[in-house]
Amino acid sequence: MTSADQEGWSFATARVPAQFGAAIHTLTPGVQHAWGGEKALCGLVEDQIEMYLHLFDREDDSACPTCRQQADAAPTRPCGQERLHDRVLAAAAGPLREELLDALRRGAEIKLWINGRAVGLAKHYALLDRIVEGGPAMVAALSVNGSVGLATVEHGPWQFIVVLPDHEPPLIARATADR
Ligand SMILES: [Zn+2]
Repeated sequence: MTSADQEGWSFATARVPAQFGAAIHTLTPGVQHAWGGEKALCGLVEDQIEMYLHLFDREDDSACPTCRQQADAAPTRPCGQERLHDRVLAAAAGPLREELLDALRRGAEIKLWINGRAVGLAKHYALLDRIVEGGPAMVAALSVNGSVGLATVEHGPWQFIVVLPDHEPPLIARATADR
């Protein structure tokens, strides 16, 4: 399902809960705490804490009640569409950028947003054979050593491909949608 054009969808309504890593105290391994960076949200400190690689799940029965309460009270974060929108603002002005910004403001689905070596992304994710607009610039942006971000956004019959280099403006291309 795509969230595009949903009634009432906005960056404000689409904000997402803050996320925390999961941690346990070695003496009470049945209780899951939310890790706030230097201590658990309930105040437990790093001594005797073990970190998990997954996120704190506030819905889980094992969640520490104080951590759950604190996690619920933590400020929400912008949704993916808002974060990508703010990055795309730095792209070269033009119809493609305006169309993508508008799609994101209406909740178009972000199918993929990853970071990786540019060469690998070009090979596996950049849909180079489907690009109908912005192809040569995209190929150039992916012909670099090092890592870049790459996002794809579904929008009707099209998908936008956005290359997000670390220190340069994003590049946008248009490709046909997966059908
Ligand atoms: Zn806790």
